[in-house]
Amino acid sequence: MNPLAVLFSRPRKLLGWLLLSLAFSFSFVLALGAPVQAANVVKDIRLGVTESRTRVVLDLSQKVDFRVFLLDKPRRVVIDLPSLDWPSQTPEISKSAKLVSGLRFGQFTAGKSRLVIDAASPVRVAKSFVLAPSSGLPHRLVVDLVPSSTKAFAQQVKKDREASRAQNKKTAKAAPPPAFKPRSKRNAKPVIVIDAGHGGVDPGAHGRKAKEKAVTLAFTRELAKQLRATKKYKVYQTRNRDIYIPLRQRVNIARKHNADLFISIHADAIQRKNVRGMSIYTLSETASDKEAAALARKENQSDIIAGIDFADQPAEVADILIDLAQRETKNLSVKFAKLVVDNARHKTNLLDRTHRFAGFRVLKAPDVPSVLIELGFLTNRKDEKQLVTSSWRRKVAGALVKSVDGFFRGTRVASAR
Ligand SMILES: [Zn+2]
Repeated sequence: MNPLAVLFSRPRKLLGWLLLSLAFSFSFVLALGAPVQAANVVKDIRLGVTESRTRVVLDLSQKVDFRVFLLDKPRRVVIDLPSLDWPSQTPEISKSAKLVSGLRFGQFTAGKSRLVIDAASPVRVAKSFVLAPSSGLPHRLVVDLVPSSTKAFAQQVKKDREASRAQNKKTAKAAPPPAFKPRSKRNAKPVIVIDAGHGGVDPGAHGRKAKEKAVTLAFTRELAKQLRATKKYKVYQTRNRDIYIPLRQRVNIARKHNADLFISIHADAIQRKNVRGMSIYTLSETASDKEAAALARKENQSDIIAGIDFADQPAEVADILIDLAQRETKNLSVKFAKLVVDNARHKTNLLDRTHRFAGFRVLKAPDVPSVLIELGFLTNRKDEKQLVTSSWRRKVAGALVKSVDGFFRGTRVASAR
C-alpha cells in the first residue's frame, strides 16, 4: 500500500509523524546552532563633539579587532572591522561636528566590514582603542579625531598606504583582470550578468524610507528568477546579498564569465521631487547631456564612498583587440537599450529622452555589451512606492526579459548571415 495512503487513513499516526519530524528538525536546528558564534552586534554609533575633538563611539556586544587609516581625494577616515551586525539607521551628524561631514558603514568584503567617515577638513586620529564593559556600558570602540594640517594629513595618508601595501603583500595578491576573449569564442547558452548597484558600506541613493542598495537587490533577484525560468540563459549575479563590490570587480565578473550581456540596476535621486520615470544608459566618453554626466559622476563615486584607495588600483588594461571590439560592443549595448525602451514603455513611466549616454565605470568592459538602468527616482513619492512593490518589479522585470529575448534573437540572426 502507498505509505501516504496509510498516513492519511490514520490521522493519529499522521500526528505522530508530524511530531516526530518536528522534534527532528528542532534538534537539527539546535545541532546547527551550537557551533555558530553569535554575531557581534553594533548596538549604537555615537558622535561626541567637544571644542578640541570629535569622538566616534561604537557600542558592541563583543570585543573587536580594528584598523584605522586615512585616505585622501577626498579626505576620509576608514575603520576596518570584522563582519558586524550593523544598525539599519545612520546617526545624525550634528552641525557642531565640524570635522565630520558624512558617515556610513556596512559589509565590505566577505569577512570584513567597514566604517567610513568623511573628513570636512584635515584630521588626525589622536587616539583609537577598545574599552571593556564597565558601569553598565558594553564593549566600546573609540576613535578620537582632532584638527590637523593639510601637510600632516597627506603624510599620514602616505604612511598608512605603505602599511596597507605591506599588509596586502602578506595576503593574496589581487587577481589580474580576465584576459580578453574574442566574440567568436562564445557560449552555447547566452550568459547574462546582472548587477545590483551599490551594497554594504555603499548604500547608494535614499528615498523617504527606501535605500537604493536594497531596491536594486530586490529587483535583480526578480530579474534573475525570471531569466532563469526561461531556461534559455545562464544567469549570474554580481551580488546576492548586502555586500559592497568595487566597480572594477563588477566589470571583471562579467568578463570572467565571458558574458554576452551585462545589466546594472540602479535607482536615482534628484533635488526636484516631481521628476520620475525609468532611464537607461550606455557608455560614452562624451555624455548625452549634463544630467547624464552628473549621474555618471555620482554613480562612479561608489568606490570612494566605500573607502577604496585608487593609488593601489592597477592601471586599466590596454589591448589593441579591445579597441577593435569596443565598437561592436557599443553597438550591441545601444541595440539592447532601445529594446528596453520599447518594451518598458507600456509597463512603467519613462524619463523623457529615456536612452542616454555617459562615462559610467561599471559599463567599461570592452568585450561585454553593457547597460545601466535607473529604475526610477527614490526622491519621487510615486516612484519610491513602485520601486518597493513586488508586482511592479515583476512587471518591469518581465519587460526586460522580453528585451533580452529580442536581443539574442536578433544577434543570432545577424551572426548566421
Ligand atoms: Zn546607483
